[in-house]
Amino acid sequence: MIRVLDSFVADKIAAGEVIERPVSAVKELIENSIDAGAGSIIVEIRGGGKSYIRVTDDGCGISFDEAETAFLRHATSKISGIADLDNIISLGFRGEALASISAVSRLTMVTRRAEDMSGVKLVLHGGRVVSKERTGCNTGTTVIVEDLFYNTPARRKFMKTDAREASSIIELIQQYAVCYAGIRFMMINNGMTLFTTNGDGDPYAVIRTLYPSIAKNGLIPVENEHVKGYVSDPGSTMSTRKGQLFFVNGRLVSSAVIEKALDEGYLGRIFSGFPAAVLFIEAEPCDIDVNIHPGKQEIRFLRQDEVRKDISEAVSKAVMTDSGVPKGFVNSIEKSPEKQLNDSVQQKNETEQTSIREFLKSLDRHDSYEMPEAVETPETAEETAVYAPVSSPVKTEAEVIRKPALFDFADLAFKGYVFNTYIIMQGKDELYIFDQHAAHERIFYEKFMRGYNNSAHSPQPVLTAFTINVSNDVYSMSGEWLGDLIRMGYDIEDFGDCTFIVRGIPSYMSVGEAEGFARGYAEAAGEAGGSNRVVIDKLITKSCKSAVKAHDVLSEHEITDLMSELAKCDNPYSCPHGRPTFIRVSSYDIERSFRRK
Ligand code: ADP
Ligand code: MG
Repeated sequence: MIRVLDSFVADKIAAGEVIERPVSAVKELIENSIDAGAGSIIVEIRGGGKSYIRVTDDGCGISFDEAETAFLRHATSKISGIADLDNIISLGFRGEALASISAVSRLTMVTRRAEDMSGVKLVLHGGRVVSKERTGCNTGTTVIVEDLFYNTPARRKFMKTDAREASSIIELIQQYAVCYAGIRFMMINNGMTLFTTNGDGDPYAVIRTLYPSIAKNGLIPVENEHVKGYVSDPGSTMSTRKGQLFFVNGRLVSSAVIEKALDEGYLGRIFSGFPAAVLFIEAEPCDIDVNIHPGKQEIRFLRQDEVRKDISEAVSKAVMTDSGVPKGFVNSIEKSPEKQLNDSVQQKNETEQTSIREFLKSLDRHDSYEMPEAVETPETAEETAVYAPVSSPVKTEAEVIRKPALFDFADLAFKGYVFNTYIIMQGKDELYIFDQHAAHERIFYEKFMRGYNNSAHSPQPVLTAFTINVSNDVYSMSGEWLGDLIRMGYDIEDFGDCTFIVRGIPSYMSVGEAEGFARGYAEAAGEAGGSNRVVIDKLITKSCKSAVKAHDVLSEHEITDLMSELAKCDNPYSCPHGRPTFIRVSSYDIERSFRRK
């Protein structure tokens, strides 16, 4: 017999799709609170949200007459017709959440509007109203959800452990707290307050408190018309994308388009891992489609290319400032060094400030005094930090957000040259350590790319022509790569018998460098099976390495030249392989190492 399902049964089935887990209920409830204009939201859960969820806000409240209506399917105050669907500015719009949650739980709502003398308390079990009475209460709304899925045993089976369900909810509240920094959030789990935010509108402070692993090395502000937020410097990456939070019009979203745009914004400067990023993106409501996923986490951009360009440009602008220079020695500095020092040294240091001579003597007895080793901060730090006190007593540099300025090489003064590799320059409040080889590679890379793209053909004749020998397979493919070298500024010719003769080289290279590059290029092209526009970039990247010799000692004059060439590069910050060309050590970092701060 075919029959139409009782509406309550239908509701339970549909509700199971929208409200899959306790976290989905919490999400809907806090979105309602945000839509209601709340300035403060308290979330309390017990038993991972399975036995108890409470969300209390100080928003606009609901009138006595409308309290029941809010629980009807498709009852919403946020849209009125189909046309509004193209212009959604609220978080909710389907009018389903309260209906769905109440269908699968025992729900109590207590609510009052500011203009009403008294509020209303409404109790529903499995979607049916059990009681409704007037009550005295604060302005705003409290929704208590008990025994979630008590009447849908199948759904209950799919829930994870209390701890897992709780952790999803806590993570969700952290994300909303970052996005809505102007709202005060309080999170209570099994009677314990895990964190509160102060709602003063500063997302950076919230990130620092709730996501210490994202902010551990400080973040660079991103500031464009439609894209705001914070990103890590290219040297402070994480091993997963867990450190990336994207909000579009106040909605947390996952989006491959945004991920891609973010990566592009670093212009190849990420050597490994993923940057940390918290991005707030504003889009015209009519340019996005949030209606493609019941949980609304996935989003479709109707003008994908423009969004991608906006984001990557905003990120590039941020990381191309002086703040984008990777910081040196950060890990050893962030860890409090005293903890890792030898105990006796530590004690002397603390108690004998008066006698420096004694102190030095005691140090003498230790054969070697090594700086503490760098220790990676575990990326799970945010999980443990949740249970830590809300604000840290020590001001770390992460707390002090630097105002980024365009990096200006002219501000740097040469201070020294160490290990025949590293150049020390001093800026205003920091010193910079340049890697001469990485810098060289970057300079050559850009010059070759430019030469290739502009067909610059101006070889510098060499005093003594030299030859390059290649293997048979590479020789047989010379048609594929010889032209490229000529285009890049070589005067090179087939000399027969697997040999090429070079009579002129690109003007900015020494003979040794030019030889290394040409050989590297021929071999790389042979390996790649020829060159075309797509692989040329990779070939040049690879071959720049062959051009740069290790332990070439530079004179001060050559260092000056190197600096001015690097300054002219489009991206002076990293070598073509993505390694930094220089790192920054602030006077603050140094002072902290000496425990002056
Ligand atoms: P939607 O959010 O899609 O409109 P819901 O079922 O979540 O649908 O809520 C139904 C209606 O109940 C909302 O449109 C709103 O008018 C009202 N409402 C729900 N929660 C609150 C709240 N915390 N404060 C004020 N009004 C609320
Ligand atoms: Mg809603």
